[in-house]
Amino acid sequence: MTKPAIDFGVFIGRFQPLHIGHEHVIHSALEQVKCLIILVGSANAARDPRNPFTFEERQKMIRSSFAYEMAEGRIIVEPLSDLLYSDNAWVTEVQRRVSDIVLAKGNAGGFQASGLKDFRIALTGYGKDDSSYYLRMFPEWDNVQIASQYGTFGSSDVRARFFQRIPEIAQSILSPGVAQDLEEFSLTDAFRRLLEEAEFLADYPKQWGSGPFVTADAVVIQSGHILLVERGQMPGQGLLALPGGFVNPQERIRDGAIRELSEETGISDSKGQISPAALGSFIDDSRTQIFDAPSRSLRGRIITHAFLFRLPARRKMFGVKGADDAAHAHWHRIGDLRPDMLFEDHWSIIEQMADL
Ligand code: NAD
Repeated sequence: MTKPAIDFGVFIGRFQPLHIGHEHVIHSALEQVKCLIILVGSANAARDPRNPFTFEERQKMIRSSFAYEMAEGRIIVEPLSDLLYSDNAWVTEVQRRVSDIVLAKGNAGGFQASGLKDFRIALTGYGKDDSSYYLRMFPEWDNVQIASQYGTFGSSDVRARFFQRIPEIAQSILSPGVAQDLEEFSLTDAFRRLLEEAEFLADYPKQWGSGPFVTADAVVIQSGHILLVERGQMPGQGLLALPGGFVNPQERIRDGAIRELSEETGISDSKGQISPAALGSFIDDSRTQIFDAPSRSLRGRIITHAFLFRLPARRKMFGVKGADDAAHAHWHRIGDLRPDMLFEDHWSIIEQMADL
């Protein structure tokens, strides 16, 4: 076999879970590149039926099929966070991560590269449908040619068969190590919760239709803290969320945000619950934004409008209490939050609205 001419390959994917189509791409890439960097996407998302496995669980799946290549340093696996409302920021993050890995690994052993131009880098992946549009976002890199898709299946087929009362493990398209991981996962509480949620989500359109729905969310900031509710119900029970909800047919969207904020948190000062008019006066209308990523909710197409409430900085925070369909409302230091603590795309909304 001739020596690969490409120094580094880059393969981005969610691998929810890893299947033999992904493995085929990895094997083909390894014939053409010296080292393959696998960036495991959506690494910062909370578990849900579409992203059921953590980064560590997906890394283990890759290791179970490519233990030797990982031990030899021919495959490097790293987590990659989504930046849902900024493809530019996401591309920048991919570029930085790849540069760091290439320079660190490329310079190991005493070789002092002057920069990335000393290395040939190529992107791999199969443009299976519109969801692979990101493969066109790195024109500076070569392509590792993958002739065709391997079968017509994808991870969503594996998940559909897995999240059932009697889970079916798609042995024919999973490596033995991955099949074993799924077998073990099917016995966990996490599986049971995800199954309940998958069933809830399957029923959702039957009850409510599939949208588009209009919602309003309140991003309430006071003295470095943000006001969040803990979700009391599926989907995302137990996760933190922005106060907000569906807009009533007869109300303005801005009024919906104020109403939901008031109902879900009972926000008050020393004189008692703050009136809708006073809450409205805290809104910075120049910052109102629409968040409409088509994949943002598994319930259907939900387009939300986020309103920034800037509360005056004070030593004594405004009072809050949990009510309505939110289990609890609390102030959180923004610096203590991790993306996987938040429901759906609420972390991305906070990032945009609070300029993180
Ligand atoms: P995936 O696991 O579905 O697919 C990964 C790769 O494997 C793709 O190139 C796909 O075409 C290929 N593949 C899948 N099935 C195959 C088969 N049977 N045969 C051959 N190849 C096959 O992952 P994905 O959803 O494409 O992952 C993209 C990641 O990048 C996600 O995490 C996404 O969130 C992230 N992303 C983020 C942003 C942002 O945050 N702004 C933008 C773009 C992409």
